[in-house]
Amino acid sequence: MTVSEQPVRRREDYDGVSPFPGTVEHAPAGRAQRWLTGTIVVVPFVALGLGVWLAWGHGVALTDLLLAAVFYVVTGLGTTVGFHRLLTHGSFTARPWLRVVLAVAGSMSFQGNVIDWVATHRRHHAFTDRPGDPHSPYRYGTSLYGQLRGLAHAHLGWMFTDDPTPASRYAPDLLADPAMVRVARAFPALCAVSLGLPFLAGWAISGSLFGGITAFLWAGLVRVALLQHVTWSVNSLCHVVGSRPFTTRRHDRSTNLWPLALLSFGESWHNGHHSEPTCARHGLDRYQIDPAAGLIRIFERLGWATDVRWADHDRIEGRRRTDASPEARAPAGL
Ligand SMILES: [Zn+2]
Ligand SMILES: [Zn+2]
Repeated sequence: MTVSEQPVRRREDYDGVSPFPGTVEHAPAGRAQRWLTGTIVVVPFVALGLGVWLAWGHGVALTDLLLAAVFYVVTGLGTTVGFHRLLTHGSFTARPWLRVVLAVAGSMSFQGNVIDWVATHRRHHAFTDRPGDPHSPYRYGTSLYGQLRGLAHAHLGWMFTDDPTPASRYAPDLLADPAMVRVARAFPALCAVSLGLPFLAGWAISGSLFGGITAFLWAGLVRVALLQHVTWSVNSLCHVVGSRPFTTRRHDRSTNLWPLALLSFGESWHNGHHSEPTCARHGLDRYQIDPAAGLIRIFERLGWATDVRWADHDRIEGRRRTDASPEARAPAGL
């Protein structure tokens, strides 16, 4: 089939290779939103550069690295186990207090409030890699230029466009949950806590204000930047680069990308996830390391998580790609 020269006019006409209809007309977000998003995105990233510059030749204090690791793990698991597997997909039922704890921990990762995060992600699953997807790397088509632009859009650019996802449509269950509404409203305060706690911990442990400032830099800002970009890489890279062992819906080009598995707590087994979205485990194959699934297993043993949707072997095998279907043959991007 040749690529159509004409822009696609309607969603149902989408052919899988053209830019999404309406892409050209899409307006940028309002000034206030752009500034807010810019701050949330740019400040941690600049801090990453500053941290590397300061550490050059001097190294980093062990305290700062350990604190950064602790905050990375807590906020990362809050995002993957809480925001994603529990609240977006209902992969298990958590005790009410655990639900709140996970939502609070996820909110501290500077990725937006819990209700908006869930709504956006559900929309991504509803329209994966076709018109309507809030962050598809195929938005600008599958030419090399389109693909590069699409990767930038899926990673970061989508947050700067005026394309809100209505929570009333995509996350009515969370809007009806007073605890989640409270956590969502507390998002700005939780961001402050996320940076303030490392500062206080560093100050207390080192006994000096300078120790507090370096902990703020490494366990606060740099940790936020690293987790942000790992999470966003799942949106960008994990739809372009990697393997596609399982069948997904039409146009869905999600991939498994092993190098990100540990840092993303198992989220980069993204093809497995898109194939079985409600499964509590994303690494569907043996040896696919999935720390988030490990934590859910611990919660289950402790009696804190029930109705966990674990992978069904026969069902998974039934979804394994064996034929050369069009999506399997499609070039995996870059
Ligand atoms: Zn995806
Ligand atoms: Zn998902």
